[in-house]
Amino acid sequence: MTATHCPYCALQCGITLEPNLQENSPEPVSLTGRDFETNGGALCRKGYSAAKLLDHPERLQAPLLRQADGSFAQISWEHALDLVAQKALNIRAESGADALAVFGSGSLTNEKAYQLGKFARLALGTSRIDYNGRFCMSSAAAGTNRAFGLDRGLPFPLADLDGAGMILMLGSNVADTMPPFVRHLAGARDNGGLIVVDPRRSATAKLCADNAGWHLQPTPATDLPLLLGLAHVLVTESLADTCYLAARTNGFDSLRSSLAGWWPERTAQVTGVPAEQIRHTARALAQAASEAKTGGKPVYILTGRGIEQHSNGTDTVTAAINLALLLGLPGTLAGGYGTITGQGNGQGGREHGQKCDQLPGYRKITDPEHRAHVARVWGVDPETIPGPGLPAVELLDALGTPTGPRMMMIHGANPVISAPDASRVIQALSRLDFLVVCDFFLSETAAQADLVLPVLQWAEEEGSMTNLEGRILRRRAALAAPENARNELWILSQLAQRLNAPGRFSPDAQEVFEELKLASAGGLADYSGVRWDDLDAGAAIYWPCPAGTEVRAERGIRNGTPRLFLDGFAHEDQHAVLVPVVFQPAPRKNNSSVSLVTGRLLEHYQSGAQTRRVPELAQAAPEPRLEIHPTTALAHQIAQGQKVVISNERGAVTARALLTVDARLDTVFLPFHYPTSGTANLLTEAKVDPHSRMPEFKHAHVSLSAVKEE
Ligand code: SF4
Repeated sequence: MTATHCPYCALQCGITLEPNLQENSPEPVSLTGRDFETNGGALCRKGYSAAKLLDHPERLQAPLLRQADGSFAQISWEHALDLVAQKALNIRAESGADALAVFGSGSLTNEKAYQLGKFARLALGTSRIDYNGRFCMSSAAAGTNRAFGLDRGLPFPLADLDGAGMILMLGSNVADTMPPFVRHLAGARDNGGLIVVDPRRSATAKLCADNAGWHLQPTPATDLPLLLGLAHVLVTESLADTCYLAARTNGFDSLRSSLAGWWPERTAQVTGVPAEQIRHTARALAQAASEAKTGGKPVYILTGRGIEQHSNGTDTVTAAINLALLLGLPGTLAGGYGTITGQGNGQGGREHGQKCDQLPGYRKITDPEHRAHVARVWGVDPETIPGPGLPAVELLDALGTPTGPRMMMIHGANPVISAPDASRVIQALSRLDFLVVCDFFLSETAAQADLVLPVLQWAEEEGSMTNLEGRILRRRAALAAPENARNELWILSQLAQRLNAPGRFSPDAQEVFEELKLASAGGLADYSGVRWDDLDAGAAIYWPCPAGTEVRAERGIRNGTPRLFLDGFAHEDQHAVLVPVVFQPAPRKNNSSVSLVTGRLLEHYQSGAQTRRVPELAQAAPEPRLEIHPTTALAHQIAQGQKVVISNERGAVTARALLTVDARLDTVFLPFHYPTSGTANLLTEAKVDPHSRMPEFKHAHVSLSAVKEE
C-alpha cells in the first residue's frame, strides 16, 4: 500500500494506492481516500477516478517527432535528446540564449519546478522562463506580498476554518472545484455565517441557503468596488479595530481618505448589490470580529480566482486584505485572510524559481545578495545567472518575433487551452522554429509540437508537493512507469550533460530536494529544516521551516510554522501595509453584449487534458455548456439545449445552452476546460494586471446567437 496524494488540486487530498493484481482489473492500482487534514478521507469524483489515467490507451509510449507531412513518428530517446540539445545549441549560437524559452507549471513537483528554473538559467542560459501559475496565483501573490511581505496561500491551517463563526468567501466555488473543502465551512454555516460573493449562484453560493449565511451577487468585475463599499461602512461607522490598526499596520489614514467616495448607495449603483446588504454584511463582519477577540469564534476572509483573475486582480486582493486588516484579523487567532490555491503544486510551483523574476526560496532575481546565495548553491559565478525575463502573456506574445524566442520547452502545461486569447497563443506557438512539449498525453499544445517527450504520471514518480496551506508533503511512486516514459528530472539531467551545463543536475528527487533546501535557506519560503525522512514518515510540514531552529511538533512529527504573522508581518518593521486602491470601470463594448464569466466544473481539472480522458467524467460533462438565465435566453431566442455561438472580437465558441436561474440576467457562464473550438479562452482578453501580469480571464463582453439545427 502506498500513501500519497491526489494528482490534481492544491487540497492534495490523502489517498492510498494498492496494486491491482487480479487479471482484468479496470485500473493498475485501486485508489481509496485516506485520512489527511484537508480531506478527512473524502475525495471528489476527479480524485476517485484519477487511477484511470495511469494505463490509459492514449498514454504516450515514445518520443514523437513531427515529420515533413505533419504526422508524428516515434523515435528513440537518444535521438530525441540529441535533437533537443542540438537545436538549442544551434539557435543559441545564431540568436543568443534568450532565443530559448521554457514554460513550466504549478502541477510539477517541487523538485521539477526547482530544476526547471535552474536548467533554464544555467543549461540554456536564458532569462526567458515563466509558467502557468502566472494565470493562477500571481495576483494573490502580488497582493499578499504587498500587504504582508510574504505570500503563503493560507497563512494558517485549513482546519482552523472548522471552528469559524463567519467566513466571507469571494470568487471561489470550492463546492465544485475542491468538494472536500466544504467540510471546513461547516462551523460558519452552522453559525449562519457563510457569506459568498459570486456573480453566479454557484454550488458554493447555494451552501448559504437555509439561514447558513447569505450570497452577494455583484455585477461581474465589480468585486473591487464592493470591497471598497464594505470597507467604507467599517470606517464611517467606526467599526474598524483602531487598536489593531495602530499597533500592527501602516497606512490607515491614506486608506480612510481613499474610501470616502464608496458610500453604500453609490457602491450599490456600481455593483448591483443592494446598499442595505452592503451595510448588513459590513456590520455583521465587524460584530463577529469583535466577538472573536473576546473568546468568540474566529472570522476569515478567503479569496479565489473569481476576484483574482482580472487585470485589476492585485488591487482587488489588496482591497480584500484591507478589509481583513480593518477588522483586525490577520496575524491573530481571531481569524485572518487567505487565498485558496488552485493547482496541485500551485504553492510550491511559485516558490522555487519558475517565475521570470524569481530565484528559489522566493528570492528576487534582481537582488545581488539573493543572486549570490543561489549562485553559491549552484556552484557558479552570480554573473552567470541571467536577469529577469518575461511574464507568461508577454513571453507567449514574443514567440517567433524578431527578438523573441525561437525555441520553447513546455512542461506540464497546456496553454493552447489555458492561456487567454487562445487564437493568439496558437499563432505564437506556430511561429517557433522548434517546440518541445513534455506530457503524458497528446494535449492540444503537444499536438502543435515538433517533438513530444512522454513523461511519468503522479503515481509513478517520487517527489514532494506543497499544498494550499504551505505544507510540504510526499508524492510517492506506487507502480513502475511505462517502459518508454521518463522522469523530467532525468530528461533535464540528460540535456544538461549534452549542453555541457555548469552545476549538477541530479535525476534523483531526494537529491534535488536536498539542494532545493540549501537554495531556499534564509529565503522567505525556507525549507532547509525539512527532513526527507520526516516526509517519508507521513509528515506534512508547513514552511518556513529553517534549519537549526527549534521546530514545533504535533503528534511527535516536526511540522514547521502552521500559523504565520502571529509575532509580526514579514515587512522590516513587522507591520502590515494598508494600500489604497482605485477602481476604474471597463468601458462597455456595445448595448447588445452580455457579460461572460469563465470558470471550472466539478468534473474537470484545468485544461481538461486529463479529466476529459476519464470516461465517467467525460460522460458527465462531455462538452461546454453555456449557463444562461431563461429570460436572457428568451430575449436571444435560445432554447434549452440549443447550440449557441458565443463571440466577440477575439473569437467564437459554440456551446449548448443550459437555462438556469442561477445565472444573472446580464451574465452567461462558460467553463474553460474544453478543446480548441470550445475553449472559453478564445474569448478572454490578454490585457494584464500591472503588478502581477495576470490576464483578464474572468470577464469579457460577448454576443450570443442561436444556431438553427436541422
Ligand atoms: Fe481532493 Fe482536489 Fe483531488 Fe478532488 S481534485 S480529490 S478536491 S485534491
